[in-house]
Amino acid sequence: MPQSTELLRDVGRILTRSHDLDETLANIVRLVARWMQGDACSVYLLEDDDRGLVLRATRGLRRSAVGQVRLGIGEGLTGACVAAREPVAVPDVTLDERNIAFPESGEHRFRSMLAVPLIVGERVVGALTFQNARARVFENEEIELLQMIAAQVASIALNARLLAYASSPPVAAPEAGAPERPAPFAPSTLVRAIGVSPGLALGPVHLHIPPLDLDHMDYRPAPTPAGEWRAVLRALRETIRQVGDQREAVGVRFGEEFADVFTTHIMILEDQSFRSRLRQGVEESGDGSRALTETMREYSRALGSLPDATLRERALDIEDVVRRVIAELVGLRSRTATLRDGVIVVADRIAPSDFVLLETEKIAGLVTSHGGATSHAAIFARSLSIPAVSGVPELLERVRPKDDMIVDGLNGSLIVAPSEKQRNRFQGYSERYAASLERLEQLRELPSITQDGVDVGLGANIGGLYDLDHVEEHGARGVGLFRTEVLVLSARAIPDEEEQFQIYRRMAERLRPDPVTIRCFDLGGDKLAPGPEARESNPQLGWRSVRLLLDRPDILRAQLRAIVRANASGNLRILVPMLTTLEEFRAVRERVAEVAGELDAAEPPPLGAMIETPAAVGIARFLAREADFFSIGSNDLVQYTLGADRENERVADLYDPFHPAVWGQILQITEAAERAEIPCSICGELASHPLAVPLLGGCGLRELSMAPLSINAIRPIVRALHSEKAGALAREICDLALAEEVRQRVLETCREWGLMKDPELRLILESTEASRKR
Ligand code: PEP
Ligand code: MG
Repeated sequence: MPQSTELLRDVGRILTRSHDLDETLANIVRLVARWMQGDACSVYLLEDDDRGLVLRATRGLRRSAVGQVRLGIGEGLTGACVAAREPVAVPDVTLDERNIAFPESGEHRFRSMLAVPLIVGERVVGALTFQNARARVFENEEIELLQMIAAQVASIALNARLLAYASSPPVAAPEAGAPERPAPFAPSTLVRAIGVSPGLALGPVHLHIPPLDLDHMDYRPAPTPAGEWRAVLRALRETIRQVGDQREAVGVRFGEEFADVFTTHIMILEDQSFRSRLRQGVEESGDGSRALTETMREYSRALGSLPDATLRERALDIEDVVRRVIAELVGLRSRTATLRDGVIVVADRIAPSDFVLLETEKIAGLVTSHGGATSHAAIFARSLSIPAVSGVPELLERVRPKDDMIVDGLNGSLIVAPSEKQRNRFQGYSERYAASLERLEQLRELPSITQDGVDVGLGANIGGLYDLDHVEEHGARGVGLFRTEVLVLSARAIPDEEEQFQIYRRMAERLRPDPVTIRCFDLGGDKLAPGPEARESNPQLGWRSVRLLLDRPDILRAQLRAIVRANASGNLRILVPMLTTLEEFRAVRERVAEVAGELDAAEPPPLGAMIETPAAVGIARFLAREADFFSIGSNDLVQYTLGADRENERVADLYDPFHPAVWGQILQITEAAERAEIPCSICGELASHPLAVPLLGGCGLRELSMAPLSINAIRPIVRALHSEKAGALAREICDLALAEEVRQRVLETCREWGLMKDPELRLILESTEASRKR
């Protein structure tokens, strides 16, 4: 339907140029009514208390009814569509007892009506209605088209709601006492952290979000409030321009799903009530930076106190974008916009937008206080091959802007202001590393088989379509783990079935015949969970992953439908995360069967169980009888087995995957899989740990899935192994009590096998060990 494509494109244009919600909605209803030959088209939005709907824009109903016509959820045909979260198409409203005509809107003239809900992720925010004077049946194509338009409109409607919340009276925040400033790192300090993207870098520090101390800024406002307001408007304009550029750049580079956040940013800056609050602040204080800071704090306090996680998340957006306006106003941007080549970016945390702002090609390394291996920062850094470490508290306070820094993303450490000796050592280390990467690259085409001919597949862990180039580049055999929740985190909403279908289908087609393992949304825990229920005191042990999915059949169903539909090439697999009971697995199996039945799919994709809790290990032999395959999630398995939070740098020493208890569990899992004759893979970080590979091979794992970047380093280790000898090694370590003993035994055995004679292997195998002792 080329016409509908054009209509969608025009709607998109209106939205991206959006300045004001009411004006935008008015333009959209006018456009839709004209293109689809409707006699009326209207938008109803939920009111702030979520109790009812109000007519917000119309073409065809009386203008005077805008803001006046109100209806409850479930009331009338529009209310019914919002209550059911589904389209309501009525050929003749006079025959439908749900219909209520509001005389003040003049809608008694219309006989047929189509209403579709406005939904963003989990939230219904209103409805889009379409009416004709004559009685008529609505075609499926029309309904689908209106739904697609509604999806676009919904996002801006949510933003408008967000701004309405934010401008509601602020909740008083407790006054914080002045925190003590931590001492800067002494020169040559070695800091242990979490390696989240492999590689090595040495360079000058660039403090990201330069210490814009909002309370102590050296800023001189214009002499008059009018002049200052003009300066604020200039800063707003310039920021909007930059954000617009970023939206485009991110969309092209990483995919549209990553670009949405910038539309929110622009809407915030263009919002009328935001601006009038700001203007009032400028008039009162004469200081734009103060007005911006105060408005930002009010907004984020109001949003931060909301129970809804999606809206709370967006408080970060407000801070993000207003800080940029302030930096623009006070002239900081021009001083920091251009990065020196080869800098180490040091930040508290990194948002997706920063990767564009920061001219990534100039970044040699990245260090953040917060964000674990699955944070945005880590995912982006890995896909851009930027070495990164995370989990260093109070970084911005403790690192000085003039320091140099060594980042070791292989082993998760950094050295602040390294000494001459440390530099020299690093130089040698990184030259050997670079040379060895190059040699490893040359082995790319060789098969990953052991000395005795056992094939060990090396798959890729990915977070989105943007990772597919790396899958091919590093010679991965398909995808062992697609973390679909990355889609949710980046879009800050759960993508609908159609959006998911498009992504899964493109992946399946591009990588076929290699398998693509799609893990069902692993939400909760440290990853955004939908709805107000998500606030928990112990989220890692709470309502997450499969638990959440089974409680939210709508989310699970849409995802399963998208996967089953996308499986035309037959290479998709479904993976269920965080299982602790057999019932959970059975319930998902039932849902898959239902969906496959609905879609007439001859054979649904294989359904795998992710083994990442000690409970799942305990029942592995039962799960193995029902699952089509196993995948070991060692990141969580280590966390739950050792009772050490994988994100908490304070217990990073205890979070040791070489603890014998972990290997006991892995053996139990592989034995169960072997007995049931189902394939077993591992997709946790352990799969790419050089010292772990001989043990994993020895435990019988024949599929290792890892960040594409790591594949070249792991391939030669696999090729140097002998599966029987590795098996003996795995059995031997069952008698060891200490993690350190396990590590040493693997190293010694690798030496005995002659692996250390190969300089590449030696470097790879010893690097981890050496770094532990530095
Ligand atoms: C794991 O737990 O090992 C895993 C692969 O999943 P995630 O890291 O996304 O929790
Ligand atoms: Mg996990």
